[in-house]
Amino acid sequence: MIYTETMAAAETLRNIHDKWAAANTCELKYTATRPVYGDGNPKANVVFIGEAPGKHEDLHGVPFVGAAGKFLNEMLGSIGMKREDVYITNIVKYRPPNNRDPEPQEKEACKDWLHEELAFIKPKLIIFLGRHSMTHFFPELKISSAHGKLIIEHIAGISTNYFLPLYHPAAALYNGGLRAQLLSDFKKIPKVLKKIKK
Ligand code: URA
Repeated sequence: MIYTETMAAAETLRNIHDKWAAANTCELKYTATRPVYGDGNPKANVVFIGEAPGKHEDLHGVPFVGAAGKFLNEMLGSIGMKREDVYITNIVKYRPPNNRDPEPQEKEACKDWLHEELAFIKPKLIIFLGRHSMTHFFPELKISSAHGKLIIEHIAGISTNYFLPLYHPAAALYNGGLRAQLLSDFKKIPKVLKKIKK
């Protein structure tokens, strides 16, 4: 087997995750089955950031593998992309009990982990899946008005200036209106990437 640059990057990224899983002070590590590391291409141009692992993610140790993940895979397919083309991670790396919302201190405890992950991957575009992910970076925004609109702004320590908030796939799964909106917002991703590459 040829040892490629992508394989080397995946190994370095895994070491970053292992380091933070050992050093992390998030109380959720005592109730979760395991940490859920980000998944996908370590050299991806696009990084999706969700909220926190759910039941299936906690069992398998991979983000977005339950119903919301299936929907996300479908949406990626609708714009000609595969999971292997992108990188998918979460604000919080451990499942909150009964899938409750993560608490501010739990987000804070995983913050440096996420930021080192992003600093290593250096994506051109960061896509927020839902309000928890968006407000981590832009606390003043509301997902109901910010969804589908490209944000161009510099945030200290973040490699890209391009951010796209979307509704969370789980919120849209059983809500026809949100689902149609998310599908339509998702279709903007290729156009946004074209604009960024110019
Ligand atoms: N919802 C999320 O926000 N993240 C996951 O990994 C799964 C469901």
